[in-house]
Amino acid sequence: MKSPIIIAVDDDQAVLQAIQRDLRQQYRKNYKILSSTSANEVLETLNELRRKNEEVALFLSDQRMPDMLGVDFLIQARKVYPLAKTVLLTAYSDIEAAIRAINDVQLDYYLNKPWDPPAEKLYPVLDELLNDWQSNYRPPFEGLKLVGYQFSPRTHELKDFLAGNLFPYQWLDMETNPEARQLAQLHQLDAKELPAVVMQDGVVLKQPSMQAVGEKLGLQPRATQSLYDLAIIGAGPAGLAAAVYAGSEGLRTLLIDKRAPGGQAGTSSRIENYLGFPAGLSGSELTRRAITQATRFGVEFLAPQEVVAIKPQGQYKHIEFSDGSQVVTRSIVLSTGVSYHKLDCPGLDKLTGAGVYYGAATTEAYAFKDKPVYVVGGGNSAGQGAMYLSRTASEVYIIIRRPDLTATMSQYLIDQIEKTPNIHLLPCTTVSEGLGESHLECLVLEDLNTKEQRKVPASALFIFIGTKPYTDWIEMNIIKDAKGFIETGRDLAKYQDYKEFWKLDRDPYLLETCSAGIFAAGDVRAGAMNRVASAVGEGAMAVSFVHKYLAET
Ligand SMILES: Cc1cc2nc3c(=O)[nH]c(=O)nc-3n(C[C@H](O)[C@H](O)[C@H](O)COP(=O)(O)OP(=O)(O)OC[C@H]3O[C@@H](n4cnc5c(N)ncnc54)[C@H](O)[C@@H]3O)c2cc1C
Repeated sequence: MKSPIIIAVDDDQAVLQAIQRDLRQQYRKNYKILSSTSANEVLETLNELRRKNEEVALFLSDQRMPDMLGVDFLIQARKVYPLAKTVLLTAYSDIEAAIRAINDVQLDYYLNKPWDPPAEKLYPVLDELLNDWQSNYRPPFEGLKLVGYQFSPRTHELKDFLAGNLFPYQWLDMETNPEARQLAQLHQLDAKELPAVVMQDGVVLKQPSMQAVGEKLGLQPRATQSLYDLAIIGAGPAGLAAAVYAGSEGLRTLLIDKRAPGGQAGTSSRIENYLGFPAGLSGSELTRRAITQATRFGVEFLAPQEVVAIKPQGQYKHIEFSDGSQVVTRSIVLSTGVSYHKLDCPGLDKLTGAGVYYGAATTEAYAFKDKPVYVVGGGNSAGQGAMYLSRTASEVYIIIRRPDLTATMSQYLIDQIEKTPNIHLLPCTTVSEGLGESHLECLVLEDLNTKEQRKVPASALFIFIGTKPYTDWIEMNIIKDAKGFIETGRDLAKYQDYKEFWKLDRDPYLLETCSAGIFAAGDVRAGAMNRVASAVGEGAMAVSFVHKYLAET
């Protein structure tokens, strides 16, 4: 932590030197001592100090100064540092003004000049004031700050990006947090420029893209080499496992994700069934461990960077990114996973990011403290989401079309939900409309048996329904099933056009697509198990086939 500051002001150079000397002697170990002969000059620098996250513990000012009276200076200074202690240095003739200031403007103390010996007349007073300041002072959050409006889709996207990439940050809501308004004023940010990210060094990024924030925080958006042995597209559990094995086995490996490492698992509040973690572990913890392990083995990680096309040329494959850049690789593992289906009903599209969220959106849970929230979906992810939200929300309602959860959710989660008094199941129910001006306020729910509709107040809706693979962008000759999942291995033979694409004498390896050297692993693959462990297993297996393929070329 930076040392807090003591600022002394006196227009008389000789007196100022004496104050400085005495302050340094007693306080320099724990405080930075600044001094000036001009009150105006100090006031001009205070905002800059604030922007740099410096804290002032005490102002000590002479009363009679040509540019400003000491009392006026202390009043102004306290507008920037409201918690700082204020001490006036007075001549005998100014005592009356000083006493008035104690009453009128809550001046903390006045000291008569001269203050010799300091051990008797100066330090006891200042020690007491500084102790008091220390006991009330909460060190400011020193890292990155995100200022914006809670119900703004851009703000939600940035929160999600920062949390996904494991960057600690402080969220400051303009509507509810006075610190947010102070910070916006300090950096002269108007509403149109929000959300804004205020970096630790005081640099402000207004309405930044994920790329701009990522770059500023040291994420790597560009590949450093011209050719890789393996490029892994998607850094969920499958991609991360492939990266760890490929890196540890000496392949020049590039791991790419369009948002953050961890994928769906990274958004999970508690994975309870992953082997080796009897007490469960959070998705962010699993991600932190895995990305550390992969990069330790020399894997290069690019994020946020979206792959938009693959162009095979002989034994090389050109990967194109959304920013127009390219990279060349000898083999590819596609591990782009799945995303949730859109809930298609009136009103929800315009409120997405403003009370309507797809997936766990754990970053938003606290915003709905003591308020009613709704979860749509009956799978494990919906169950986990409901359990997580039940800690902060007043009530959590799970909306499902079926009569109960038994066919879709693991028993351990059903048991947990039944034991949680503020979670309520709404069976045979569907959402038919979302209502709200700038954010979600109500839902219209329909009973599927009676067709009866009712309007309920809702602060948030978290949607966990069905999944679709991230494969629309793959235009080359890779066979997908009717839902867009990638076919691999022996299953390819079911397709009539398979032989048009597959020209090698051997059959495709188990996880190989119908384009030789391009493999698929995890949820994106047709027939996948939709589990963290199976995605990890497939990622690891894919690398053994990559070795075989590379040995052939
Ligand atoms: C909330 C939640 C809780 C869950 N809990 C459990 C649990 O307790 N136990 C369990 O076994 N399973 C659980 N699951 C399921 C499990 O998380 C998934 O099966 C697993 O994450 C699949 O991993 P994957 O690597 O195949 O894909 P994903 O995790 O979906 O990762 C895919 C990655 O690819 C990236 N990507 C997509 N397209 C591109 C592109 N064009 N360019 C670059 N990157 C791209 C995405 O950003 C994403 O990071 C849960 C899922 C959710 C959502």
